[in-house]
Amino acid sequence: MNKKSYFGNYGGQFVPETAMFALDELENAYEKIAKTSEFKAELDDLLKNYVGRPSPLYHAKRLSKHYGHEIYLKREDLNHTGAHKINNALAQALLAKKMGKKKILAETGAGQHGVATATAAALLGLECDVYMGAVDIARQELNAYRMKLLGANLVSINDGLKTLKEATTAAIQAWVNEIESVFYVIGSAVGPHPYPMIVRDFQNVIGRETKAQLNKYGVKADYIIACVGGGSNAIGIFNEFLSDTSVNLVGIEAGGLGANTPYHAATLTNGRDGIIHGMKTIVLQDKYGMIEEVHSISAGLDYPGVGPQHAHLHTSGRVKYEAITDDECINALKLLSRLEGIIPAIESSHALAYLEKLCPNLSEKKTIIVNISGRGDKDINTIMSYEKGKIYG
Ligand SMILES: *Cc1c(COP(=O)(O)O)cnc(C)c1O
Repeated sequence: MNKKSYFGNYGGQFVPETAMFALDELENAYEKIAKTSEFKAELDDLLKNYVGRPSPLYHAKRLSKHYGHEIYLKREDLNHTGAHKINNALAQALLAKKMGKKKILAETGAGQHGVATATAAALLGLECDVYMGAVDIARQELNAYRMKLLGANLVSINDGLKTLKEATTAAIQAWVNEIESVFYVIGSAVGPHPYPMIVRDFQNVIGRETKAQLNKYGVKADYIIACVGGGSNAIGIFNEFLSDTSVNLVGIEAGGLGANTPYHAATLTNGRDGIIHGMKTIVLQDKYGMIEEVHSISAGLDYPGVGPQHAHLHTSGRVKYEAITDDECINALKLLSRLEGIIPAIESSHALAYLEKLCPNLSEKKTIIVNISGRGDKDINTIMSYEKGKIYG
């Protein structure tokens, strides 16, 4: 195992021999194609004219007044398709096309990554298979239908609990079966090397823009806060600031009903070293090493592992990770909606909720950036069910 595939003790390539060939091919293509100025120019043009970048860094004045600190929101919610996921899905799909692949495939739980991938496939004229558990298809009817409208082939998985874990297993199997002609578009900064690095680099646009926008405003960030599922929006905004230790970086995990109960997805708070989806990382597992079921009001943070770079940043202490409960998250969602007229995604609301804990403990006025990873339109039904007290079915 070569050391470059690791972040500290985490990362690597824990995959069958048949997949090693495809990972090597991907790594070579990434170095030879994605780093050229032609690729970058084509991607930048799509990010600008199709996705709508740069996303604004918005000074939230009423929220700032409420908390007594200067709060800025990085508006990934304004991207085409409503979240940061398109940055990565589009870039990987463009790489797939340049590699001569005719088909891309993806797994999806709540459907957000499936929609982003189906969108990119439509734009670039690629075939697209999205693997989704039958239970998730029923729960996320709108996103499932959206993918069909976009021309993707939705593959319904009926194994096991019929949710994301089984869909991921099926997608990996399908990829291995057709490995020469198919490109697997991973949705977060997870999986075997080189995926965590590639997704990080493609999401790094968030941090690059934020840094330039802060410079333009003549403002220095004291804190940057982002939610962490697999960790792609968080590493996307953090990475550019890692070497500047005067910037405090905080990643927020889903605390569900409480990180001290069995119902949460607070991987870094409660997990141990383990292997999941081809990587060594920190994993929520029982005493026998079986991966535990996770709970969160937010489908996008409901993951028992985490990207290996976050496991490393947690262990090294460079980034602080905290858990926020469902209740705290919904309060933050309502507060931003009423104070700023912005309904954030439930995932992003976890990051916002941390302001409630951080701000009262700061002795002087600070500048705080919160990454708004997505918009809340997709979550309205979930919020309504939550209000009726029916969130865990
Ligand atoms: C999927 C999703 C997330 C979680 O994914 P990361 O890879 O951790 O960023 C966060 N926010 C939104 C809006 C999402 O759709």
